[in-house]
Amino acid sequence: MEFSSKLLENAVYEMSQLPGIGKRTALRLVLHMLKQPSEQTMRLTNSLQHLRNDIKFCSNCHNISDVALCEICANPKRDESLVCVVEDIRDVMAIENTGQYKGLYHVLGGKISPMEGIGPQNLTIPSLLNKVKEGIVKELIFALSSTMEGDTTNFYIYKQLEGSGVKTSTIARGISVGDELEYADEITLGRSIVNRIPFENSLKSS
Ligand SMILES: [Zn+2]
Repeated sequence: MEFSSKLLENAVYEMSQLPGIGKRTALRLVLHMLKQPSEQTMRLTNSLQHLRNDIKFCSNCHNISDVALCEICANPKRDESLVCVVEDIRDVMAIENTGQYKGLYHVLGGKISPMEGIGPQNLTIPSLLNKVKEGIVKELIFALSSTMEGDTTNFYIYKQLEGSGVKTSTIARGISVGDELEYADEITLGRSIVNRIPFENSLKSS
């Protein structure tokens, strides 16, 4: 792509670094911005800057939050003995949308993937194991997507918790294999949390 302007080229390049945005789409977006009032672009850049500078991760569940302890963890009505283990904030949002879950979450920040060099230490797994040791948690619900990495992660945590007395369960796989949690419809997802099964049972069936 030949550019008549270096400024334009740079903006298109940065935009094209976003997932799903090719060079042509990036160019379209940048040209669109140039046609809009400059305040609009300023609002966008300001919001991104604030996001990067001010965003926090909840000290308890590691979910993205504006404050040190997120709204869910700070809510006394939530059952802190129940912790749902998820990959990222999209899963928290999907489960919250079902209105069926009143426990807390633990956001791992990814899944164990030897292929990509992601081990337990690269995720918030040590923090989860520490939390369990404190003795408040009675049940962990695994709600990672049913991919090989998801299964590996569940199994690793399950093994680490053996003998701890904490119950482990997994959301019932009404959701077909390979589906990401975020795409499951609310009713199916809500039902699968209510009808969760002991983790051991999921091992036998697979
Ligand atoms: Zn939290």
